[in-house]
Amino acid sequence: MVMIPTVTLNDGTDFPELGLGTYNLRGDDGIAAMVAAIGNGYRILDSAVNYQNEAEVGAAARASGIRDRLLVTTKVPGRDHGFDETIRSARGSLERLGLDRIDLYLIHWPNPSVGRYVETFRAMLALRADGLVGSVGVSNFTAPMLTRLIDETGVTPAVNQIELHPYFPQAAMRAFHAEHGIRTESWSPLARRTELLSEPVIAAVAAEHGVTPTQAVLRWHTQLGSTPIPKSADPARQIENADVFGFALTDAEISAIGGLERGRLFDGDPDTHEEM
Ligand code: NAP
Repeated sequence: MVMIPTVTLNDGTDFPELGLGTYNLRGDDGIAAMVAAIGNGYRILDSAVNYQNEAEVGAAARASGIRDRLLVTTKVPGRDHGFDETIRSARGSLERLGLDRIDLYLIHWPNPSVGRYVETFRAMLALRADGLVGSVGVSNFTAPMLTRLIDETGVTPAVNQIELHPYFPQAAMRAFHAEHGIRTESWSPLARRTELLSEPVIAAVAAEHGVTPTQAVLRWHTQLGSTPIPKSADPARQIENADVFGFALTDAEISAIGGLERGRLFDGDPDTHEEM
């Protein structure tokens, strides 16, 4: 089992420096993969209504025997934005999870043309006050959207989960988060594997430290101050991905990996891309 260190969120919660993505982990195989990950030391399980696997995530959490030490994350989908809609959406998620609390609740996409993310966040604060939600955060929010949320509610989200990988290092968003005490979480931290893991610069850094390319990339995330949530269904790869805290990249290596910057994986610009 790997010991994954934690940082403290702006609401006082201990938050692991690395977690498990669960997109496409479904059915009995999905539950088995998540139970294995928990046994391997993972504490964050990152789900969403739209991954259609909240039942599996909840089943894995309940089977773990350490439910209280897990940070089960789920996300409000675009079609549920609005105050009453979000309260209903959370109840549905809790029912499917079979848990009495969502540990980290995120707005999945801001959907600016709908214009209801502030109301949605207010509902999440009400759910937190009722003890149904632990930490409140967002996903795919830009700096102006975060500023609006903070100005209109007086609450700074604990987390903003954004696309972040060596092809899209998000320097400006990370600086904004650092300034405001928001924890960055990296989605698709391995760039969905693509050709990232065979980039020569990553191979060279990995060889220097005697680690795999995946480990070099995930260590890069944690040293940037972000929590990556790599998805793997394979227990051996889960261990490989979590075992990244026994070495440290140099500043030059961190810059070299960030030098791979070329843009988003798909056209997921939160100002224009909306998901329901
Ligand atoms: P990812 O974690 O970057 O990559 C996952 C892929 O890499 C899978 O094909 C996996 O295959 C493979 N992989 C994992 N570890 C590996 C290793 N050590 N060696 C070789 N291949 C490896 O992509 P992702 O699933 O898109 O992103 C991670 C999580 O972020 C998602 O699962 C989801 O929870 C979250 N997410 C959030 C948003 C959002 O809008 N908020 C958007 C996208 C994703 P195997 O399973 O076979 O190992």
